[in-house]
Amino acid sequence: SPEKVINFSPGPTSLPEAVEKQIAANFQKPGLTSLALSHRSPEFIAILEHAVNTARKVMAIPDDYEVLFTHGGGHGQFAALPLNLCHEPTDTATYVVNGTWSARGCDEAKRYCNVQTIDAQDTKTGNYLSFPELTEEIIDKESKYVYLCSNETVNGIELHRLPKLPESRKHIPLVVDASSDFSTKPIDWHGCGVGVLFACASKNIGHPGLTITIVRKDLLGKASPLCPGVFNYTTNSEAGNLWNTPATFNIEVVGLVMDWIEREGGVEANEQRSIAKAKMLYDVIDNANGFYATPINDKSLRSRMNVPFNIAGGDLALTEQFLIESWEQGLIGLRTLTPFGVGDYLRASIYNGITLKQVTTLAEFMVKFAQKHR
Ligand code: PMP
Repeated sequence: SPEKVINFSPGPTSLPEAVEKQIAANFQKPGLTSLALSHRSPEFIAILEHAVNTARKVMAIPDDYEVLFTHGGGHGQFAALPLNLCHEPTDTATYVVNGTWSARGCDEAKRYCNVQTIDAQDTKTGNYLSFPELTEEIIDKESKYVYLCSNETVNGIELHRLPKLPESRKHIPLVVDASSDFSTKPIDWHGCGVGVLFACASKNIGHPGLTITIVRKDLLGKASPLCPGVFNYTTNSEAGNLWNTPATFNIEVVGLVMDWIEREGGVEANEQRSIAKAKMLYDVIDNANGFYATPINDKSLRSRMNVPFNIAGGDLALTEQFLIESWEQGLIGLRTLTPFGVGDYLRASIYNGITLKQVTTLAEFMVKFAQKHR
């Protein structure tokens, strides 16, 4: 039955049950919802301010950062970044490529600026399995920014803390794609020299159609003259997120998710929940005597958000069987069809919407399946 469905989709996916109930209740109340309010009405301005202020509070975003709600998803930011931070197409930006999403961001940037790549692709397998050490030799000191993805959603590699650039490169702002891990751990904004951090909403904090983009204010005013207004951080910040019509409902939802995180103990407590959820699945995989395997051997890099695993070395018949039996139990979203050809890994995505109890249901299913089919 639908109540029994547990959604392990990599995104878009379900939000915490309490948030989904609150959204549904809002639609039962008399009056207009945020879908029908003018974005310039005092009612919507209050919703917008609430979303910005709770995000600031929950994620401890310092005052010298602007919180923007941008259009165009993660891909919009792949283009917006070089257009905002590189005034000339000859300016250089440094990209750490250690997974499919950083590769995609890097490819898009090449259209707008000169790109220096730090490529972490494993030469033997062609897979991404690690994160490179960021030394001064590999970062151009004239670079306008150093870009990285803090959780590679497809490959299952996560930086549990952002790195610090070497002393001689500290003047370069760090740019972070936190699309699939934002709100699940604290961020050391000043300590790590974060210049821009963005997250498309549809994994941990909301619905597709909205991206939160947090920009250090000293980086405003540097955009290329070709940067479209809708992507321009300065234009949007000067207009208080109302340069054009923002995704009103999606912004309200981000505020509701931030309220939920705060009620549930804040970002530190949220991180502890993520650690516990991920540990439960990796323990099942590591203790299955090879029946399950996950590609990332370095435990310090294993994603707490997306747990990739295969069955009996990628046995197709068993994988199909696993998908059928799990689906019959209401465990959905484990088959992930990516356009990136990352082999036959299944993936359990365990964002904010998934509880420890729900992860336990999957873990128990995996143990039973292994016993039955080993
Ligand atoms: N970056 C990461 C880390 C992602 O997981 C995704 C979406 N899966 C994107 C960027 C792309 O986001 P969008 O589809 O909103 O453009």
